[in-house]
Amino acid sequence: ASITTHPKTILITGASSGIGEATARRLAALGHRVVVGARRTDRLTALAEELRADGASVTPLELDVTDLESVRAFAAAAIAEHGRIDVLVNNAGVMALSAVADLRIDEWERMIDVNLRGVLYGIAAVLPQMRAQGGGHIVNVSSVSGHRADPTAAVYSATKFAVAALSEGLRQEERDVRVTVVSPGLTRSELTDRGGAPDAQAAARAAAEQLAIPASAIADAIAFAIDQPAAVDVNELIIRPTAQG
Ligand code: NDP
Repeated sequence: ASITTHPKTILITGASSGIGEATARRLAALGHRVVVGARRTDRLTALAEELRADGASVTPLELDVTDLESVRAFAAAAIAEHGRIDVLVNNAGVMALSAVADLRIDEWERMIDVNLRGVLYGIAAVLPQMRAQGGGHIVNVSSVSGHRADPTAAVYSATKFAVAALSEGLRQEERDVRVTVVSPGLTRSELTDRGGAPDAQAAARAAAEQLAIPASAIADAIAFAIDQPAAVDVNELIIRPTAQG
């Protein structure tokens, strides 16, 4: 794709690795202004320096999506710098796989806090600005686990089903704000590296090593939805490895 003639201000949560990082790279290369947030600011700073060397507009900011004030400050900084927010990509997420009977309750809370509460905080932080400026676009990264539940993924799936429901309700409420759900299948990233029951995480890692598609494939889908005309809302995209069951 070529450089856009309509550069947008695009906020991306969880841009320090995986899908968020790939999305920042893709959108910056298309000429959009990207504001990237995560907790690992060293990674964000390195990414920003690399992309700026190619002429991109990239603002790295510390962000914890489980902290409402942090999410508000992230949006406020983008508005202070660019005067508007065209798109929010709610991408930050965590997956800690385990059987429900293992009662890994701290990890349940973590997934609910990041995957669901974090998405709600993101919406709360940008929706007033989008309404005031007459439109905007919220892209929520769900998962194929937002369509089906599997053993050891019950709680993770519950958070992703919740994102789908939230997105559909919001979409119907807002006439001028586009809402898109992006649902990846197995994608190369750091998602399986943190938390969960060791055997369940090892199985997920093995499946990913065999099948996973690059994070850039998901970034391309997000860029496609963003670059549609304002009157066109791509409601959902499901992107899976061809060989994934
Ligand atoms: P990664 O682990 O590589 O990326 C997750 C990102 O989320 C990191 O940048 C991390 O940054 C960020 N993050 C985690 N917690 C927080 C927090 N509290 N505040 C701010 N940022 C946070 O995994 P993926 O790229 O795979 O994950 C991106 C999204 O894609 C997730 O929503 C995931 O559920 C979804 N997904 C992934 C699939 C896959 O197979 N990879 C399949 C389906 C969906 P940091 O730790 O620096 O804060």
